[in-house]
Amino acid sequence: MTSLFEDAQSRLIEVMKYVTLSDDVVNRLKYPKKALSVSIPVRMDDGALRVFTGYRVQFDDTRGPTKGGIRFHPDVNLDEITSLSFWMTIKCAVVGLPFGGAKGGIKVTPKELSLLELERLSRGYIRAIADIIGPKRDIPAPDVYTNATIMGWMADEYYQIMREQLPAVITGKPVHLNGSLGRDSATGQGALFVLLQWLKAFELAPENTTIAIQGFGNAGFHFAKLAYELGFRIVALSDSKGGIVSNDDLNPQLVMNQKLADNTLKAMLYCDGSVCREAEFNVVSNEELLELNVDVLVLAALENQITEQNADKIRAKHILEIANGPISPEADEVLKRKGINVLPDVLVNAGGVTVSYFEWVQNRSGFYWDNSEINCRLKKIMDTEANNVFDLARQKKLSLRSAAYLHGINRISGAMTEHGTREYFQK
Ligand code: GLU
Repeated sequence: MTSLFEDAQSRLIEVMKYVTLSDDVVNRLKYPKKALSVSIPVRMDDGALRVFTGYRVQFDDTRGPTKGGIRFHPDVNLDEITSLSFWMTIKCAVVGLPFGGAKGGIKVTPKELSLLELERLSRGYIRAIADIIGPKRDIPAPDVYTNATIMGWMADEYYQIMREQLPAVITGKPVHLNGSLGRDSATGQGALFVLLQWLKAFELAPENTTIAIQGFGNAGFHFAKLAYELGFRIVALSDSKGGIVSNDDLNPQLVMNQKLADNTLKAMLYCDGSVCREAEFNVVSNEELLELNVDVLVLAALENQITEQNADKIRAKHILEIANGPISPEADEVLKRKGINVLPDVLVNAGGVTVSYFEWVQNRSGFYWDNSEINCRLKKIMDTEANNVFDLARQKKLSLRSAAYLHGINRISGAMTEHGTREYFQK
């Protein structure tokens, strides 16, 4: 079996068929620049000491300081974090941000920890990696199972170590702690901008477009809510425990309210004052949700959800990858054969890091933007870069994924070759 990083790299190799990259560039994108493994001792509430394993991988910083989130998940490992740091490098280049790519993570089941234990763990992680991060070096952010509160603790720990306030060291902080407006919804909003650009070519009006969404975390929820507000028909939703599918359109906000109230996904058709009516819904597993016959399938959970095992059973017309790496390279081939359009992660979910970039700019200048400025700038970047990728795919007859990689690699390769390559020095 190939490692996730080998899978990630295979996309780069695929793109090399369409572009002549200098050996220098290829060689530099084979390995991460720096990979740090740390152990984080945490005093638990019962007095016991537990030691957690954490990582921070900085893949490439040719285009700027490295950037990428931190995830808390029991399956975190170095191979996964390295792959994610590679994808961050490509992603920042696809949308033209002046950043390289990085990623971090801690192997932990966060739900098993009390809030105080979680705070100690978050602060311990920053003490362990403080030497290699910084506003001009490497800037972490939220990812799977981390949020604004955790970013606030982490930033605060960094200030205590450095003895100064350096808010640009971490993005995705709470708004009251120098975070940016719109960061919370940015990944979902950015994905929706990309989808809207894509659907233009199909003359599919929102009210005639059905959507099933796997993953109801921050990105999946905000995407669902914003798409519903535009009139799209959300017919199925799932979280890690399972999902619901309904003939009545689901209102993501009401589903979320219900989930927060009793920790299960239930479909509320409407809530008027205290009177809530449940919509007719069926319970589906995560696997079944993927196989629904919908216009758009949104993957907003984790890696490798569509693989050789289930690719043949997918019936959606378009797939929107909000998660990082949800489709394996083998599955990509099957979907291509079936004529399913895959809008790739390195473009679709780049709204998150784009508003992170805005947060970093605001923190460094000390001047803060309002919601409409954030949204307007985000829309401009996502619309422009999405159309750049779509045009490239059309011109070169490439899959959207290969076109996105090519678009990003062109920028990375441009930066690397400006330092001089073998060809240049042999002149
Ligand atoms: N974790 C997010 C991602 O995978 C955001 C990264 C960031 O904001 O730096 O794109």
